[in-house]
Amino acid sequence: MDIEKIETWLKLKSDPLLIAGPCSVESEEQMMATAAGLAESGLVSAFRGGVWKPRTKPGSFEGIGSPALKWLKQAGIEHDIPVITEVANAQHVEEALNAEIDMLWIGARTTVNPFYVQEIADALKGVDIPVFVKNPIHPEVGLWLGALERLNQAGVKKLAAIHRGFYAYQSQPFRNEPKWEVFFELRRIAPELPVLCDPSHIAGKSELIGEVCQSALDLGMDGLIVESHIQPEKALSDARQQLRPTDLNAVYQALEHRDEAIDDRRFIAKLEELRSEIDQIDLEILRWIGKRLEIAKAIGPVKYENQATIFQMKRWFKVLENRKDQAKEMKLDDEMVHEIFQLLHKYSIDAQIKNHGEA
Ligand code: PEP
Ligand code: MN
Repeated sequence: MDIEKIETWLKLKSDPLLIAGPCSVESEEQMMATAAGLAESGLVSAFRGGVWKPRTKPGSFEGIGSPALKWLKQAGIEHDIPVITEVANAQHVEEALNAEIDMLWIGARTTVNPFYVQEIADALKGVDIPVFVKNPIHPEVGLWLGALERLNQAGVKKLAAIHRGFYAYQSQPFRNEPKWEVFFELRRIAPELPVLCDPSHIAGKSELIGEVCQSALDLGMDGLIVESHIQPEKALSDARQQLRPTDLNAVYQALEHRDEAIDDRRFIAKLEELRSEIDQIDLEILRWIGKRLEIAKAIGPVKYENQATIFQMKRWFKVLENRKDQAKEMKLDDEMVHEIFQLLHKYSIDAQIKNHGEA
């Protein structure tokens, strides 16, 4: 991808970068009062505000629509701060551009659909405007990258990604599961792409936002986009997760900054010592996985010869239960152990299916 560095197209007012504003632009008064509160700290690099709201449940507030664009823009002009809104189709793009909105974002429910993304990309041909792409609702890095690539191919070079977490049937304590590993994969494939965290949609509750912001910084994300409302309790959408501007300021001030490359000899030496231990352990883990797979493979022909199914449900449940009991005694995380053994089991079964002929 051909991407311009964020600091060349967005005046960064703070480190880490902060974009803030209401979930939805509800009225001129609400937008102006929220913007005034946010501008006071001098930390906010752009105001966000949704105008067309994709709601899961029909009957929920679906946004004011285009009339709200001018209130958002007015807030930006008043404080000399760029503004960003969500677009979900070509019509939205056209209206946002007419209202001179400075930047656009594509929401999670749109990133999942390549038809919509392509329509937006086509509408942006020849328009030099920054676009932020939220991750799709489910954890598929390919769709996320695909959306970014469609925009890039249409000539959008001012690109950034927003990590807003993923839908999970049960996601406690948060609203969305962070699944940071998806961000790691995005960073690995597109290291030059700026990635912001949206702690509001991950946390879902205002009191958990600080914690998510800190995780994002600890993982080296490039900035934060946070929902803020002058009166969160009266918000027409996402009321539970919006912070008053003063509360957002307090959350931001409490964040601890981290640096990936620290130039301290003692720190580097300690890190290297611990990392070489990890390298050694990883090598042993790999050797043991290899041995485990060899044995699993040898079981394949034994099952086939005896006309037994490859997948033995009772045995699998027993293995899982037993490993989790053992892990509990070692005070290891239950879910982690579950996931590891699920993977080991999956690859053992695959090996047995492939190896059925070789008795
Ligand atoms: C939003 O930012 O208000 C929004 C609807 O976000 P998402 O697309 O992440 O659900
Ligand atoms: Mn929202």
